[in-house]
Amino acid sequence: MLQVKNVTFGYSKTKILKAIDFRVNAGENLAIIGESGSGKSTLLKLIYGEYDLKEGQIFWKDTEILGPKYNLVIGYDFMKYVTQEFDLMPFITVEENIGKYLSRFYPKEKQKRTKELIKVVELEDFSNTKVKNLSGGQKQRVALARALAKEPEILLLDEPFSHIDNFKKQSLRRKVFKHLKENNIACIVATHDKNDVLGFADEMIVLHDSKIIAKDSPQYLNNNPKLPLIASFFGEFNVIKPYGIVYAHQLKIVEHSDLKAVVKQSYFNGNSWLIEAEYNSESIFIKHKDELEENSKIQFIVSL
Ligand code: ADP
Ligand code: MG
Repeated sequence: MLQVKNVTFGYSKTKILKAIDFRVNAGENLAIIGESGSGKSTLLKLIYGEYDLKEGQIFWKDTEILGPKYNLVIGYDFMKYVTQEFDLMPFITVEENIGKYLSRFYPKEKQKRTKELIKVVELEDFSNTKVKNLSGGQKQRVALARALAKEPEILLLDEPFSHIDNFKKQSLRRKVFKHLKENNIACIVATHDKNDVLGFADEMIVLHDSKIIAKDSPQYLNNNPKLPLIASFFGEFNVIKPYGIVYAHQLKIVEHSDLKAVVKQSYFNGNSWLIEAEYNSESIFIKHKDELEENSKIQFIVSL
């Protein structure tokens, strides 16, 4: 189990993180979400042991994670960290990068393991390509595979799919998270993309104003967003009295209702339209199956 105990941290006098406290069990997937600059990457770096802590402690099982003051080489064998920058070796191939830290004494096993990981990140066609000739998204996939190569007990991922195009993203997410669950590898994912979280994370933490403002399952926070910031992570929402926070898909256009609005604009959304309408002199957003004409009058209900 990972234990982050009452950690407070700042690069200078200003505190970036205050009294951060949570646990992650073996094999569990925890998502850390928050706006850009909220301290997600800083928190991962602290867990990895990149900085010395003045307040609070971090443990993996019985081992206390210590910073550079105590460790000549940063990091521990049981933990791997895929940064936003990847840190790959450009002049050797994909296969060589992934196998870099695997033992040379077991060449058969090494080759088998490397092949398996290349499959997880869908890079079969690029095994023998030099990393410098890969796109950003391909490099990100090599970094993922390399982190998995030594079977860590816990993996830290910083926006792991941010450079990967939409064609590949969903299938890659499924493969990587499935691999982690099957191998009982705990995982902490810093992200601002709800698709990295929904369907994969067991729990999620919301960072804001240097603190954890919410911690629960993605389902619970999606269904009970107490703050606009939390709702905004999951989708388009409105604040409508007396209902409070209501998602666009919870407003339904009907023939007759006391709630009346005027259509301002329709945005195509794939399998539906997002209707922007004026209600009580404010903009609201309603999910609807059709496009609606500007200035047409509509009536709607809140259907929670
Ligand atoms: P996130 O990953 O959520 O976008 P970061 O953890 O990268 O947030 O950054 C949190 C805050 O810490 C930001 O205000 C950022 O400017 C600052 N920060 C990040 N890294 C450093 C550093 N090495 N030195 C000083 N300030 C930093
Ligand atoms: Mg970051």
